[in-house]
Amino acid sequence: MKIIHRAAELQEQLDYERARGNKVGFVPTMGALHEGHLSLVELAKQHADVVVVSIFVNPLQFGPAEDFDKYPRTLAEDAKLLEIENVQYLFAPGLEDVYPNGPELTQRAGVTGSTFEGASRPGHFDGMLTVVNRLMEIVQPDVVVFGEKDAQQVFIVSKLIKARFRNCQLIEGPTLREASGLAMSSRNRYLTDEERKDAENIYAHLNQMREELEAGAKVSETLTKHSTAIETSAKAKLEYLAVIDPQIFRPVDDNYQGPAKIIVAAKVGEVRLIDNLNVKAINA
Ligand code: AMP
Repeated sequence: MKIIHRAAELQEQLDYERARGNKVGFVPTMGALHEGHLSLVELAKQHADVVVVSIFVNPLQFGPAEDFDKYPRTLAEDAKLLEIENVQYLFAPGLEDVYPNGPELTQRAGVTGSTFEGASRPGHFDGMLTVVNRLMEIVQPDVVVFGEKDAQQVFIVSKLIKARFRNCQLIEGPTLREASGLAMSSRNRYLTDEERKDAENIYAHLNQMREELEAGAKVSETLTKHSTAIETSAKAKLEYLAVIDPQIFRPVDDNYQGPAKIIVAAKVGEVRLIDNLNVKAINA
């Protein structure tokens, strides 16, 4: 595996790969890699000949009071994991390579950028979209892989790919979970044992909600019941719990018919976690 820090050097290498007819797969990450990330790498390998994984903690997508400084940075361990996965290129650029003119927003996430995650984290999606756009310009992949774990992110990114990178195929990887059901996340390492129980409890509620909705329960009643139950757990502070239409990423009402997604964000102790679960059909 080649570890590359400079954009120009990566582009040179990838030009060489493409000239040899190799398809390029890309997995953008912020590092602190876990099995969830590695499952996306596996998907990229299945759809491409060479795989680029980027590791860049993007300051533009963190709010002033968020955990940019505390975000785990474990490049040496990450490199070992990617080496075992037979990844060809680890791209770990510096700030100057990603933002030659200094970090400034070039992309806007629009209306969906200010709901749910965007309401809790103003500016987050503009920053995320700006870095994804820049990384896509550098890598010019044939295939890019994002995790369904960040459902709103994939929704917003898919519009960017359709508009600006039309020849690139976007693949969504399913969420990898621990045995307890807790979605793997780079931030889980900061949970105490007690907080972990509360985080697992949120997943249990998502599952119950899915079952109830698929069995015909009313959306509004299901939301009220489970929001209250989650709020009463010791350490979890709910930011949002919603049932959305995945086609438009907007809340559904009690009359909605069709597939849906339950989305949740909560602060458990100091750790902010998000998760989501698909509902096959409501009122089918
Ligand atoms: P991050 O490093 O958190 O920015 O995540 C990089 C990519 O990994 C994103 O596309 C995430 O959606 C994805 N990802 C994060 N956690 C998981 C997980 N548990 N299972 C699958 N993909 C994940």
